[in-house]
Amino acid sequence: MSSATNADITTNGTEEKPGPTPILLTKKPPRDPTASATLASGEAGGEKGGEESGGPKKTACIRTFGCQMNVHDSDRMRRMVRDAGYAEVDRYEDADLVVLNTCYVRENAVDRVKGHLGELGRLKRQGRVKKVALTGCIGAADEAEELRRTYNIDLVLGTHNTYELATFVGLPGMEETHTPELPGTKGEHLSFVTIMTGCNYQCSYCVVPYVRGRMVSRPLTSVVSEVRRLVESGARYITLLGQTVDAWRESGVKFCDLLERVADEAPRVWFTTSHPSNMEDRTLRLIGEKETIVKKLHLPVQSGSDRMLKAMHRGYKSDRYRRKIEVFREVVTDGTLSTDIIVGHPGETEEDHEETLRLVEDCSFDSAYIFKFSPRSGTEAAELPGAVPEDVVQRRFLEVLRAVEGNAFDRNRRKIGSVEEIYIRHGRTGGGGGKKAVGETWGGHAVHVSTDAKAGRYVDARIEDAGPHVLYAGEPLSSPR
Ligand code: SAH
Ligand code: SF4
Repeated sequence: MSSATNADITTNGTEEKPGPTPILLTKKPPRDPTASATLASGEAGGEKGGEESGGPKKTACIRTFGCQMNVHDSDRMRRMVRDAGYAEVDRYEDADLVVLNTCYVRENAVDRVKGHLGELGRLKRQGRVKKVALTGCIGAADEAEELRRTYNIDLVLGTHNTYELATFVGLPGMEETHTPELPGTKGEHLSFVTIMTGCNYQCSYCVVPYVRGRMVSRPLTSVVSEVRRLVESGARYITLLGQTVDAWRESGVKFCDLLERVADEAPRVWFTTSHPSNMEDRTLRLIGEKETIVKKLHLPVQSGSDRMLKAMHRGYKSDRYRRKIEVFREVVTDGTLSTDIIVGHPGETEEDHEETLRLVEDCSFDSAYIFKFSPRSGTEAAELPGAVPEDVVQRRFLEVLRAVEGNAFDRNRRKIGSVEEIYIRHGRTGGGGGKKAVGETWGGHAVHVSTDAKAGRYVDARIEDAGPHVLYAGEPLSSPR
């Protein structure tokens, strides 16, 4: 799920990474599927796909690479294939249709996907897999056409037209629209609601503006009514999503107002990813005051050096970032703060790196996603001189990682002894003696807790131990509720 890989380490262990996306769907009359330029060959499903009721069921396997927005897109595609009569399977070799929903933010993501495409090509030649679809950020990128030819992919869709999968699997067509027609993810305790797509920034290193386009805000009424519908159908935790979620606006109404409306509707709310230039102090105060908002903030800083922030076109200086964090720590007591940091951007000197280490100390993050710079073709930074040697990048990466972990460990240890109300995000697997359930405190700490409580329930428990990434709770002091 996370776009973190060996080279990109998340220090919070939750495997959730903010990211981009989507479109809302509304039905329109069926149309000729071959009319779409993105359809390489008719309907998916092959021989098995044509079965009427009573015959073997068509099967589909959907794999997600990348950020939380990709996970959200996959859920939507999952509904489409289910509606079209497919049963979901886990293994490629059992699937008539395989959908790879991808992330493009870093180069190694493409390499990983190529490995999967190679394997799928082999299974197709053996007649085990019938059709392969490549969707998401890689589908929207320039090299998608080359991948389609090399790996004989049947359908390539970008992030802007994933709805075309509907036609491909034989459903009536759907078109992109910003009406509130998107059905809720019924029965799921965690729900994700995209409130804006695209991004109006042009960070030197980032491919998102190229693959996702400019920012579009979803209307407030649409967001609020979807949240209401999701909560009525069982959602207990709503996460608002967007590349720069706090840049959301609608004629004078700003993100803070929207967040407050959503927090009035839902029992538990979070949002990601925020941009420091858009983060208002009143939003920080709202996080502290509103009891339904989880007290964690993900605010990517990228670097502690003003020189690098300028080269990256981030639009703020490190002191402005520090001031935001001071406000957050003051008004959200007991909250958690995470960030993204890139090491080894072209031109990064030892002094720049020292500045980043200083900022890490000053802000005392609870966790961070640390990325080694990866040149993305088409971006400004890919063409910049001053590449940092790999061994230097590796050393800086480890130094930043150690600094973040040291602070996080200290902060986590301070929680030992406190009694927390813990939201169960993932129930325990493997029965009574099995793994612990994974929960989250209202402050946003990840906690391992020994309970059979199902996901979406709360238990109270005392924190008994702490690591740099998670807290460990004792036996619950209450029954699940
Ligand atoms: N919209 C968000 C996140 C975008 S992508 C934001 O502006 O913060 C998530 C993270 O991936 C970024 O914050 C950045 O730290 C990292 N990232 C993006 N492009 C990268 C690249 N080319 N090399 C290394 N890290 C990158
Ligand atoms: Fe990329 Fe910058 Fe936009 Fe984030 S704000 S999506 S890093 S361009």
